[in-house]
Amino acid sequence: MIDRFGRNITYLRLSVTELCNLRCRYCMPEEGVCKKDHSSMLTQEETVMAVKAAASLGIKKVRVTGGEPLVKPNIVSICRGIAGIDGIEELCLTTNGIRLPELGHELKKAGVDRLNISLDTLDADKYRYITRNGDLADAVKGIETALSCGFEKIKLNAVLIGGFNDDEIADLAGLTVRYPLDMRFIEMMPMMDSRIFSEDAFIPYTVVLDKLPELEPVTSDGGVARLYRLPGALGNIGLISPISAHFCAECNRLRLTADGKIRPCLHKCDEYPIKGLDYDGMRDQFKAAIEGKPQWHGELSYTARSGAGRSMNRIGG
Ligand code: SAM
Ligand code: SF4
Repeated sequence: MIDRFGRNITYLRLSVTELCNLRCRYCMPEEGVCKKDHSSMLTQEETVMAVKAAASLGIKKVRVTGGEPLVKPNIVSICRGIAGIDGIEELCLTTNGIRLPELGHELKKAGVDRLNISLDTLDADKYRYITRNGDLADAVKGIETALSCGFEKIKLNAVLIGGFNDDEIADLAGLTVRYPLDMRFIEMMPMMDSRIFSEDAFIPYTVVLDKLPELEPVTSDGGVARLYRLPGALGNIGLISPISAHFCAECNRLRLTADGKIRPCLHKCDEYPIKGLDYDGMRDQFKAAIEGKPQWHGELSYTARSGAGRSMNRIGG
């Protein structure tokens, strides 16, 4: 369905849980989130029905996210349900990778086409620091599993954080020379939890270009990342710049939170609830959300904070 600004809305980011087994400092409060009553969250049946309703309006690609989607006990069966919906051409999942060794093969069999795995650092101490409790070895095992399960076009995501991982840009980018995967650097967004970082931590994507002058531009794959490649590499480097060069004019996405709120824009708090509705009711809400999608997210910077009104794990990154 085309919105008021001529954008064809084809992509749904679907959060299946607010919970997570890590506590990344830019995403989530240290104490985690209060586990909500089951009755306020979408059931598996409602989730699959919602995606069907969205598909009937032209959604073709779904990315399952969270929180951490792999802590959801019925995640494999949710993915199987979504993969079987007419009109859904691509099913992707974003994860911190920790539970991939247990679930990678089953997710592939259930119909997940592609994985994005978060990895901000290659240093075990820094990994423990940024995730507040994570073990880098677990994430690495998850990435190895993803490669061995035969997932194609695996993408690793690193949030660029000045003074934390800007000294690792070359090492992280170097993974694309050794492994058939893409490495993407994402500007840190001024969401609620990233308040704990000073202004110097918010660095633009151009830092990557400065550090890696040998990068060669690659034709865009239609996504929001600017693509480059290191000479002789097996995968691309993607640069994602929600702050320094926003991509609202090409934004083709909606979000659906785990508690059943459709969000037309990550940085605005407008929500269209669908919990408890039947198929037609959900479809009407998706239509209203597309019609209500704003032209852009408004000014975003260290001082002009996101208007999201929820932490990232409670929206779906
Ligand atoms: N738990 C999964 C993971 O970490 O990949 C999926 C959910 S997480 C919210 C999705 C993505 O959002 C991750 O790549 C994470 O790094 C990113 N993210 C979270 N907070 C962010 C922020 N303030 N700025 C930029 N990216 C952020
Ligand atoms: Fe969890 Fe992902 Fe947020 Fe990290 S970025 S706290 S792994 S939801």
